[in-house]
Amino acid sequence: MKSRTKVVVIGGGIAGCSTLYHLTREGWSDVVLIERNELTSGTTWHSAAQVTNFGMTQTMVGLKTHSINLYKELAEDPEYPINYHHGDGGMRLANTPEQMQAYRHFASMARGMDVHFEVIDAAECARRHPLISTDNLLGGLWDPLDGDIDPAQLCQALARRARAAGAEVYRNTPVTALTQHKDDSWTVHTDQGDIDCDIVVNACGYRVNEVGAMMGVHHPVASMEHQYFLTEEIPAIRDAGHRMPLIRCPISDYYCRQEKNGLLVGFYEQDCKTWGMDGIDPNFVNALCPDDLDRVMDVLEGAFARMPALRETGIHTVVNGPITYTIDGAPLVGPIPGKRNAFCIIGLRAGLGEGGGHGWLLAQQIVHGEACYDTWVIDPRRFTTHANVELTALKAVEDYQNEFRFHFPHEHRPAGRPAKTTPLTPVLAAEGAEFTVVNGWERVDYIKPAPDFKPTLSFNFDEAFDLVGAEVRHVAGKVGLCEVSGFNRFEITGADRHDFLDRMFCGNVTRRTGRVGLGYLLNAQGMVKGEATIANLPASDHGPARVWYGSAAASEFHDMDWLQGHLRRDEDVQIRSLTADQTILVLAGPNARDVLAACARGDWSKAAFPWLSVRECFIGHAPATVMGVSFSGELAYEIHVPNASLYAAYRALWQAGAAHELKLFGARAVDSMRLEKGFLHWKADLLTEFDPFETGLGRFVKLDKGDFIGRTALLQRQAEAPRKHLVTLKVDASHAPAHGGASLMQGAQVVGTVTSGDWGHRTGLNLAYAFVTPPHAQTGSRLHLDLCGALVGAEVIAPSPYDPDFTRMRS
Ligand SMILES: Cc1cc2nc3c(=O)[nH]c(=O)nc-3n(C[C@H](O)[C@H](O)[C@H](O)COP(=O)(O)OP(=O)(O)OC[C@H]3O[C@@H](n4cnc5c(N)ncnc54)[C@H](O)[C@@H]3O)c2cc1C
Repeated sequence: MKSRTKVVVIGGGIAGCSTLYHLTREGWSDVVLIERNELTSGTTWHSAAQVTNFGMTQTMVGLKTHSINLYKELAEDPEYPINYHHGDGGMRLANTPEQMQAYRHFASMARGMDVHFEVIDAAECARRHPLISTDNLLGGLWDPLDGDIDPAQLCQALARRARAAGAEVYRNTPVTALTQHKDDSWTVHTDQGDIDCDIVVNACGYRVNEVGAMMGVHHPVASMEHQYFLTEEIPAIRDAGHRMPLIRCPISDYYCRQEKNGLLVGFYEQDCKTWGMDGIDPNFVNALCPDDLDRVMDVLEGAFARMPALRETGIHTVVNGPITYTIDGAPLVGPIPGKRNAFCIIGLRAGLGEGGGHGWLLAQQIVHGEACYDTWVIDPRRFTTHANVELTALKAVEDYQNEFRFHFPHEHRPAGRPAKTTPLTPVLAAEGAEFTVVNGWERVDYIKPAPDFKPTLSFNFDEAFDLVGAEVRHVAGKVGLCEVSGFNRFEITGADRHDFLDRMFCGNVTRRTGRVGLGYLLNAQGMVKGEATIANLPASDHGPARVWYGSAAASEFHDMDWLQGHLRRDEDVQIRSLTADQTILVLAGPNARDVLAACARGDWSKAAFPWLSVRECFIGHAPATVMGVSFSGELAYEIHVPNASLYAAYRALWQAGAAHELKLFGARAVDSMRLEKGFLHWKADLLTEFDPFETGLGRFVKLDKGDFIGRTALLQRQAEAPRKHLVTLKVDASHAPAHGGASLMQGAQVVGTVTSGDWGHRTGLNLAYAFVTPPHAQTGSRLHLDLCGALVGAEVIAPSPYDPDFTRMRS
């Protein structure tokens, strides 16, 4: 074994083998994979190994396309061909119009990635899969490239190519401990000796937390038992003259593919079981859990009904193995939160299909610091302090029970809730709040008219539309109060804090005490990494002069890593998170100033406290920090209150508001209003795939201010033409919003992709943001939006259609 290398990948399943191979493809050949047993001896060896192109975001579709292309190339390698049934085709079934509509959206989204799904009716499903009945079937989504692969051959082929490029693989070498040094490098201890390296990668499948513990990390990954069986030969398959397409069924929770001349049928039963929660036998290697077909009887009935031939066929093998899950079902691929030089590729529940793509995106992140797609949907930092194995196990069970039932817009399933709350959560619930979930935080979505009010899950506008409209109109006409829980807030102190922030932001960062500014952080490639408000607070009995850095609730770990990672050792800067300590109460609307003045001492006039001011005060007797900022476009104040005083502040505001018709409003109203104002959402509209000029943020960039992260790359990019522009669109439809990912068409050509959309209740417009190719990005350009399969008109309009001069929020 070598004594030193650049990267040690721990684990030789598909995740590790793909990462190793792709590191060599990105140009790093001094890399090593260490496997405790033989390659593929974890989950990978017994995988059903279906390889679909289907995904619910463009990043997932793109990475799966990479897998498919790579696997095809490997299968056709004359020196080491592998078995890959590519292009059998696969269908996801549906028995409700809502599911069919959703499939049409996913097809619209995939089209932007040059992936072409078809939405077909029940008769066509039966024509393509001669074994199925069309009872209780409306149709399905057809993925022409679906197939399956030999998992062991795949991993061997990847390892073989990596070795040929200079990588080394050490088998039968358990990693026993990890030591990180002061310079952030590592020593990986194994029972065959130690190896020093710059970077470690945890690719340990269901043993993820054994290796996590070696670096003091608790990964939110839990395992479920998962079963499939293999049937005897089925004459109709043998005689069909073509391979059977794959089936994934959200009606009865099973999947099915051809295996030899029989079928492989896998189940997602309701009576499902977590696995390994109390530790894993060290000898569980190349092993399976005991069969338990009784458990799957509920779903088996559904499979029999759809494929009557199954009733007459014998089962010759049952496979029951552990499969890993995360809180939202997508894996954790990227930097390990709070650690340096440590990455993971874990929580893969469809690792054979996705593994090629995940290893590709991870290797890019390791080598270049960023991948070609925005990887937030798989970023390990998207879950923060609430993310633990117990919560993950609850979500894993829920997810497993709903394996093929995707989330609809605004759907938040109940398991593991509430995870993060404030003292106001029960108070707001008693007021009739319907809650949404943001990074585990319960946040008011809107106020329900009755406790049993439940809108239909759909890609159309739902029954909450008028309620949200009423909340918006009330804010615009009078005044509203909204709790923003979990807003990310760092306190940055130290003499060098402003110099440090100057380096982090691409524009000028205000240094004036008592003032607030908005800015953008770029990565080394000059792409948009983050968005934050900077508020300069004076020295007070709450501490020395300091900066409050505020950003999206989900960004806490991400932004902390980014900021800490760029601190110089000789810099006098300290950063601590106050995210869980304080909550924001937003007061918005023309009467907001009157309400504030009625419960907080001091002069709150426009002259004394103009837009973008910050001041410490008391709301009643509750200590608070008030900022004059607005996401709604109305006159508004963000009132930051320590959680211990939150209820006191809420009561004081409520009392003061009675004379001004104060009412509650929620996140959906905020989202509608921010679209009308031209404000963007991090990771919906602000992506690492575009630079600030393409994103329409040129006014926030100061190339002549001196050095900042991303400046060199941005200067180079100035010589190139922009690839796309973020535009505001008016959509000619009133039944549904434009959903993120939907394609914009000019004739048969995709010319843009929607990032977010909603109804603007003040303007009466159906609004969307989209990245569009330059020839179509001019105001007045007419395009077509593929809105869940229907082409509707869409026109590029000037940004900020509501109060374009910003007079209301500055009033
Ligand atoms: C029944 C079943 C059917 C499935 N069907 C499909 C499917 O159809 N399509 C699909 O895409 N996915 C499917 N999956 C999921 C897929 O198989 C997994 O997502 C994938 O195999 C996970 O690969 P991995 O590399 O993350 O983990 P693993 O294959 O478990 O690999 C982890 C490796 O790390 C090693 N390791 C652990 N600890 C150490 C240590 N301390 N030192 C060194 N090495 C260590 C282990 O020995 C192991 O080899 C299925 C899973 C199951 C259980």
